[in-house]
Order: sequence, then C-alpha cells, then structure tokens
Amino acid sequence: MPDFSNRLLARFAGQRFSYRWYSDIQLARQGIVLEQNKEPALSGGIQRICSRTLDHVPIDDLQEGDDIVTIARKAGIIDENTGRPLYLLLDRARNSGCRIIIADALDDEPYISSQLAPALEMTDQLVRGIELAKEAVGAESARIEIYKELGDSPVTIGENLGGVPVDRVGAGYPADNSLIQKHREEKASVFGACALIHLARAVDEKIAQTTVFVTVAGDGVTTSANLEVSIDKTAGELLRQFGLSDETSRVVIGGSMRGVTITDLDSTRVTAQTRGILAMREVFKDYNYTCIGCGKCDDVCPVGLSPYYLYKFVQAGRYSMLEDFDIDLCIGCGTCSYVCPAKLKIASEITRGKMELVQYMNAKKEKEQNEEVRA
Ligand code: SF4
Ligand code: SF4
Repeated sequence: MPDFSNRLLARFAGQRFSYRWYSDIQLARQGIVLEQNKEPALSGGIQRICSRTLDHVPIDDLQEGDDIVTIARKAGIIDENTGRPLYLLLDRARNSGCRIIIADALDDEPYISSQLAPALEMTDQLVRGIELAKEAVGAESARIEIYKELGDSPVTIGENLGGVPVDRVGAGYPADNSLIQKHREEKASVFGACALIHLARAVDEKIAQTTVFVTVAGDGVTTSANLEVSIDKTAGELLRQFGLSDETSRVVIGGSMRGVTITDLDSTRVTAQTRGILAMREVFKDYNYTCIGCGKCDDVCPVGLSPYYLYKFVQAGRYSMLEDFDIDLCIGCGTCSYVCPAKLKIASEITRGKMELVQYMNAKKEKEQNEEVRA
C-alpha cells in the first residue's frame, strides 16, 4: 500500500484534511512521457472519407457583413479540445483581453496525431484561421504549440509553420496541464488547430463544419492513418476500411488516454471531439485485476491526487472521503490507468465517482432543505 502516513496524520490531527494543499504543491509535476506510436499515421498524409451529402455544405443564413465570431457560430464549428462552440471561445477571449492566440497541435496522447497532421498538411488554412482568430479577439501575436516528444517519427518540423512560430512543449503527458499557468500569465487563449482550420474554411469558402480529423490506429487494424471524415461516419465503417482484425478485443473512441471503450461499433458515430479511434488486441488472461498496492498511480498523477485511494473509495461508495481526497480536481487524463500493472480501470472509475458524488451531494442538499421546511 502506498505510504500516506503523513497525509493521514494531518487528518487525524484534527484539521479537515484535504488533498488540495498537496495538489497545489504537485501542480508543478511534469507528467510522464508515454510511448508515442504515431507512425505510420503521422507521416502518411490525410485521407478524406466524406459522404456526398456532408461534403462542402454551405453555411445557412450567412449575411453580408457577418463578423468572424458570427460566421464561426453559423458554421457550427466546435473546438476539438473542449467540445465547446468556437464562437463562444472567441467571444470569451475577446472579452478577457486576450493577447496571444495559441493554436493547439499538441497531440500528446499515444497514437494520436489528428491535430499535428492537419497542421502540417493544411498549414495555409491553419495560418489563415490563426489570423482570423487574432482579428476576432484583438490579439497581438500567435504561436503553434506542438509536442516535443514525437517518438521515432521521421517528421521534422521547423521553427515556424507558415510564418507562425512553433513552440515545442517538452513536458510529459498531459502537456496542457503544465501550460495552464503560463497561458494565464501571458493572457493567451488556446484554440484547437482543427477548429482554426474550419474557421478559415468557413470565412473563405463559406462552408459549415461537417468533418473532423481523426486518427485510426492500434494493433487491431492493418495500418494506422489520419483521416478527415464526415460526422455521419461510424467507428465500425472507418475501422473496417483499415483492416479491423477479428482478434480486436477493445475499441476506444476519443483519444488513447481519455477516450471511452465502445462495444457497438456500428452505432457509434464520430463527433466534433473525436480525436482518435483505436482498435486494440489485449490478452486479458495476462491481467491481474487485483490492486497490488504498488503506488505507481499515485506517483504519476499530474495533479497530485491519490488515484489509489480514490479508486478504493469509489468502489466502496465512501462519498465523504471522495470529497476529502479532492476527486473534483481529477482532470480525467487516464495516466493512472495507463501505468497500473493490474490494468485496473482507475480513471473511468474515478470519473464515475465524480458523477455519483454530485448526485449524492444534490440528494443530501435536498434532504437538508426538506428537513428545514419541516422544522
Ligand atoms: S485520471 Fe485523474 S486521478 Fe488519474 S492520473 Fe489523471 S488526474 Fe490523476
Ligand atoms: S497502480 Fe494499480 S496496482 Fe498499483 S496501487 Fe495503483 S491501482 Fe493498485
């Protein structure tokens, strides 16, 4: 069992124990560098798989004189990092005095290169999208952030892309976590590189967002690739085009670390936030599904939580302890599950615990209010 004696002593010394103090200390953690496995997708170019009905769909209701933010709204562009409408992010940046536009092409998760590949192949559109975002929010400068650790990829990237400086982020996964403070201090606003490409298309070609950039990869397909696909495509039809193996035991949609396992491939469609679809062959008989108390999950959590204890408390339904151990700080990065030698689904259990805690707190509040009314 991991050594938590000091932290538990603090609890029993009479203070309300909270992991938050510990987390503040740990925010400087740099995460771990994961195997990248980005090839051959990253250097293989982007293939388009689009339905005729969703290819180059004109924006509805476009008016002469619509500004950039309005066009982003009418084009229905979604930021691939946050899942939020791009126009809301632009609007917020404009109102918060944003000085720097960051085009996020980090792709720090294993296998995934669905931001970096379009940034490299569609640089003109990305640069145009960056210029439009700068104009929309009144920013003075911009840069493109990429991940320094590209594993054994032969792809080389210069100091700038289309004249926009490239910043190589050297932190471990999750890299965006290490950048939060820096972005805040320099008044930078971050936008997904793909959303900025869609912005350029919306303004210059007057087309709505009907496609997403997705990496298909894993040892359950014959080859990996980066795709631009229309949003009516299902995980199943895309995987089968790339040689889905009968021996695939798990398919994950989203990202390799933060994605979710799916079972019905033919009714799961890509969304504007889908960054990857991974088919994996896993030999479940080799797994030991019992925690061996090695503490690896605690060593790697980038926000300094104890996934070990959170996992235990979720399983035991001990909601007050979940609060004390600051479950709300979990960013769902999945690093704890990645390193767990017992292959426990720690991160997804913690996510479930977060949702259950909210329900528990709401029910508790409602009960207290009812008791007050009765008194
Ligand atoms: S998923 Fe949550 S608990 Fe696990 S490593 Fe990431 S932040 Fe920590
Ligand atoms: S990494 Fe897995 S086995 Fe090790 S303490 Fe954490 S939950 Fe237990």
